[in-house]
Amino acid sequence: MNVFDDKVALVTGGSRGIGAAVALRLAEDGADVALTYQRGAEAAATVVAKIEATGRRALAIQADSADTDAVTAAVDRVAARLGRLDILVNNAGVYHTGPVAELEPAAFEETVAVNVRAPFVAAKTAAGHMTGGGRIINIGSNVAERVVFPGFSLYAMSKSALAGLTRGLARELGPRGITVNQINPGPIGTDMNPADSPFAATAAGFTALGRYGTPAEVAATVAHLAGDGGAYLTGAMIAVDGGFNI
Ligand code: NDP
Repeated sequence: MNVFDDKVALVTGGSRGIGAAVALRLAEDGADVALTYQRGAEAAATVVAKIEATGRRALAIQADSADTDAVTAAVDRVAARLGRLDILVNNAGVYHTGPVAELEPAAFEETVAVNVRAPFVAAKTAAGHMTGGGRIINIGSNVAERVVFPGFSLYAMSKSALAGLTRGLARELGPRGITVNQINPGPIGTDMNPADSPFAATAAGFTALGRYGTPAEVAATVAHLAGDGGAYLTGAMIAVDGGFNI
């Protein structure tokens, strides 16, 4: 008996980085897993193959998180194809940094659309399919709580907005047995934030552990929240940041 036997999960932005690690971890723990991606069809197919190798069902859906209709259709398709939906992980995100004076309007639009509106729309649609309780896990950022570098205004704004959504949904969906939590990662080695970039030593220096985290370490916390460990835990901000924000 696995933790997530008979459960179905959807991970947005599951083709690379943290999302790919989360998708694989939930499958290893017994869930059937769907993932969305924007451009990386080949990478998504690789994750699907790894999920199927665990013996679970997998589904990859091309759905741009900036497109509300695509997000809604993706969530509905998961429930239709895999029969139910129990766990939603809002992971897809974009990372526009720089002084506010230099950020183009398109960066603002994409940040709000992908980091804020898409989780709102996905949660709204997913909750309609969660008939026997459920789990919604939003991937925020430690900058939702504390901003130590200049140039993070827009990105931090989006992840703080996500925190408000997390708390509001936790109140609203609690009576239906649906928990809603936010994981706020610190520096995690991915394409978005390579652990060998010129910025990496500075970022790692802010952590108590003195190093970058791995996507698998974030995925372990997602698995905890999605399982029994998350049963009485809702509306919380969970820092997986190596002590960056203490
Ligand atoms: P990556 O850039 O490594 O991967 C992003 C994933 O999201 C890819 O699968 C990508 O798919 C998908 N994606 C991006 N834009 C869209 C879109 N418009 N529609 C659908 N899918 C999309 O990012 P990380 O794994 O590093 O980040 C994952 C989450 O964690 C994000 O929300 C990020 O803000 C957050 N985070 C990351 C931190 C870090 O240090 N890495 C720190 C704190 C938070 P495709 O390849 O098809 O484009």
